[in-house]
Amino acid sequence: MISTDVLNRINEEAGLNTVWLLFEACVKLTESTLQVSRILKKPEELRTKEDLAVLAGCVDTVQAMEKRKQKREAQKRKLEEVLDEPDELKKKIKLLVTAVQEARYLVIYSGAGISTAASIPDYRGPNGVWTSLQSGRAVSATDLSEAEPTLTHMCIAQLYKEKLVQHVVSQNCDGLHLRSSLPRKALSELHGNMYIEVCTYCTPNQEYVRLFDVTERTSLHRHSTGRRCHKCANEMRDTIVHFGEKGTLEQPLNWKGAAEAAKKADVIICLGSSLKVLKKYPCLWCMNRAPHKRPKLYIVNLQWTPKDDFATLKIHAKCDDVMKLIMEEQGIEIPSYDRFKDPIFSLATQLRPDEEGSHTRKILAKDNSGSVGTILSGGWYGKGCAKGRRRKKITA
Ligand SMILES: [Zn+2]
Repeated sequence: MISTDVLNRINEEAGLNTVWLLFEACVKLTESTLQVSRILKKPEELRTKEDLAVLAGCVDTVQAMEKRKQKREAQKRKLEEVLDEPDELKKKIKLLVTAVQEARYLVIYSGAGISTAASIPDYRGPNGVWTSLQSGRAVSATDLSEAEPTLTHMCIAQLYKEKLVQHVVSQNCDGLHLRSSLPRKALSELHGNMYIEVCTYCTPNQEYVRLFDVTERTSLHRHSTGRRCHKCANEMRDTIVHFGEKGTLEQPLNWKGAAEAAKKADVIICLGSSLKVLKKYPCLWCMNRAPHKRPKLYIVNLQWTPKDDFATLKIHAKCDDVMKLIMEEQGIEIPSYDRFKDPIFSLATQLRPDEEGSHTRKILAKDNSGSVGTILSGGWYGKGCAKGRRRKKITA
């Protein structure tokens, strides 16, 4: 009979042996992995017979490493900015113009890429806010009130006037579509508008368009602007939808308008958007329909987008260049932006005397010489990026 003590001892030693064996196996595996990695880094012509023998003995490791390398390179390619050759661009523009003219219901999805010419950095381009934050670089604050509608904004507004475009769905919070004279009913600002604050206590919501960025005190999950509703005296909030939030405000988000437009659309043109966020909204892509019954997709973006494989045409060019050519080809004049005609001045509600000191942002002025305040960092710009961390979804 073996005593319990002896049995325990045997079990203990067996356990220790297993741990030791596992440890040894791990060390061997790490050593061979390192060796394979070193050999794979050598140019093929410099690999010795011994190297080749090692590789032949670790086929699985070699395959796994090469797969990882291919994945890394594909990832890198997706971030690269590509420009189509002029001849190729010309051909593509002709196809795009035909699509614009033949469309029964044309919707434009716009992203940060259409505002870069207005000195607003995009999110995911090589120098974008997102890319900078992800790589630990500081984000420089730009005075957004200096930004004016770009050539692309003005072309879109004109195409709407010409009844060639029916609706615009934008991810931008810079308010530049509105300022280009595109009417509110034709616009869905899915992530809000930095010039609008609302009282959600009033029914319907009471909206106040301002001549300054209302987001200086707001950030992710903190939306109170510090001012109170003129009607009910409750606190007002901004309209910005940060990464990780779900926008529920009826206006200026206008999800209803966006969903209806997508339903009616036979052509969708995506301008300057990585589509990484927009792709998550199935109603914008009619995903409930068979692929051949979905609207035709035309994408203008310098970088890869997750919708490229579904696109009828992908154009690698700057939005302003493409829009200029589209207008030229159709003989439509591009209106220039006129600050005096900027609709924001007629839409805006003046601050009451007691609210005058409630913000420090530069005020938009018709003669472009608005009073200058201290430019604070904060608000929607740069903030609200998830900074590499995943956040719980929360209703904004
Ligand atoms: Zn109110």
